[in-house]
Amino acid sequence: MRRICRLSPSVVTKIAAGEVIERPASVVKELLENSVDAGSRRIDIEIEQGGADLIRVVDDGCGISRDDLSLAFASHATSKLKDADDLFRIATMGFRGEALASIGGVARVTLQSRLTAELAGAELSCTGGELGPLRDWNGSPGTRIEVRQLFYNTPVRRKFLRTPATEMGHISETFTRLALAHPELHLTLRHNGKDVFEVPGSLGLLDRLGLFFGQEVKDRLYAVEHEQGPARLTGYIGDPACERGNGRMQYLFINRRWFRDRGLQHALQEAYRGLLMTGRYAVAFLFLELPADQVDVNVHPTKSEVRFRDGGALHSFMLHAVRRRLQAANLTARLHAPPPLSSPSSGNQPDLPRWLEPRAFDGPGSLFSKPAFPEPPRALHGDSGNGDGPAPPIARHAAAASEHFQPHGEAVLFPPAVPKAIQLYDAYLVLETPEGMLVIDQHALHERIIFEQLKSRIRSGTLECQRLLVPAPVELTAEQASRVLEQRDALAELGLGIEDFGGGTVLLTGYPAMLCRRPPVEILKTVVDFLGGRDRLPSREQLFTDLLSRMACHAAVRAGDPLTPEEIAALLAQRDLVDDTHHCPHGRPTALLFSRHELDRQFRRV
Ligand code: ADP
Ligand code: MG
Repeated sequence: MRRICRLSPSVVTKIAAGEVIERPASVVKELLENSVDAGSRRIDIEIEQGGADLIRVVDDGCGISRDDLSLAFASHATSKLKDADDLFRIATMGFRGEALASIGGVARVTLQSRLTAELAGAELSCTGGELGPLRDWNGSPGTRIEVRQLFYNTPVRRKFLRTPATEMGHISETFTRLALAHPELHLTLRHNGKDVFEVPGSLGLLDRLGLFFGQEVKDRLYAVEHEQGPARLTGYIGDPACERGNGRMQYLFINRRWFRDRGLQHALQEAYRGLLMTGRYAVAFLFLELPADQVDVNVHPTKSEVRFRDGGALHSFMLHAVRRRLQAANLTARLHAPPPLSSPSSGNQPDLPRWLEPRAFDGPGSLFSKPAFPEPPRALHGDSGNGDGPAPPIARHAAAASEHFQPHGEAVLFPPAVPKAIQLYDAYLVLETPEGMLVIDQHALHERIIFEQLKSRIRSGTLECQRLLVPAPVELTAEQASRVLEQRDALAELGLGIEDFGGGTVLLTGYPAMLCRRPPVEILKTVVDFLGGRDRLPSREQLFTDLLSRMACHAAVRAGDPLTPEEIAALLAQRDLVDDTHHCPHGRPTALLFSRHELDRQFRRV
């Protein structure tokens, strides 16, 4: 028979340590948090062999009294919590009193500390849970802790350690999170005797982001500041152009503590909907502040997850804050050209042949004043045969633009409206703007315009449905037919009239008049494909966004469609009329900007 027996304290410690101390980075995290709680202003970290050999943290915080040194290593001993009620108003990083005990249980630790007001300090070691003798120590005020041979007494754990470089990567990540959450701290990190990071206390958040993530990210951030009741959100969000393949660059902090939260990450992604392609992730560094009693940080051993009193409200708070900021931003994608191939050392231009020497910039005239767009003016949307439907989007503006159209065929359009542009490869429009050379994807832009117009007309109830005199029968499989018919009301709101004809055939009775560019039956077929390709029925909002973008895609001019100058002018004129012309509904950019400065730099004029 098996007997129940009490585990020895050293086994208990090892089990507890298993929860909190997973790898060297966990030790670094706990020690850094202790230094922060001690009110330090400077913290220096020294690592050897990815932390497997040594982790040393030195701070200038309040210190620990000689009498308390041994308690610091005792489990469930803390100076940060007195009773259970305190658990619900936690203002410190630590509170469980477990970290030092756990670390001391699985490594050789030396703790040295001196109270600010005392003339001398003391030191105490702890090896695998065994305390050494208390000694005098003559260091400067603050605490110095050395953790050597992590997991020396738990060989399995030690074997699980990855290469020093990988472990160091985790440590750098921990360091980064802390440095972002506490921009007033002076922090240094060294590995095997080499500087990894030196972050002065004077370096503000934005500069820290530049230090950790590079100038390219730093230059593409928008500051966020949003408040609602007791909740406050500050920080930065990235331009959609700095999207990533995963969510790792989405840093969330709650009351200065880094944490992970699926709900809030979802809110963030949701805010970027339409700006990012599916599977791409936004960059964000967001700091949430909430009263301590609104958050429970005591739900996860390493506190990397928290529980909110009202998660739903927080979700919409975040969604709203980020979306508003994105709307306020100018979202034209900036094209960053690669650096020139053989870059001469700065300032030393090689001798150029005469004909290559820089000349005074004589404007884009030669490019843009090419004579003759050969085609006669024509309206993009043809006509739908019914005079009084709403004018199709491009055609309406083409009419206005053609008033300024010069008979000699030069695409000179009078101010104020539209800048001059040329079409390349029947796919791109290139134009000169004060900011630089703008290259527009004609399909993506038109798609976005139609999408936005459809959306706003649906919203305002002014979407015109073109009824078919003779309903068009569309043959489908029985399953397709039933799926489409199930969504009949939703589709009617989108301007698509559907009726059941029986036997798998549905009748298309009407379609959005705006979309007359392509045969209406084709539009219905895209809808059928969309509905048929899914296991679960989409939410109404998903259905709307998706179908609208599909219909827009379908109806828009394509790459390969040659455009007349009027059509180009009309398209460009509408750029300013819709909310977000910077991305097509699938999230691809509609335009890339080669800034004037970038051009000058590439050609080494500056
Ligand atoms: P907790 O941080 O949850 O209180 P720890 O085991 O991490 O538990 O630390 C135990 C106690 O040791 C802390 O409550 C604190 O009083 C003291 N301590 C640990 N590190 C430091 C430090 N760097 N400076 C001052 N006091 C410290
Ligand atoms: Mg602690």
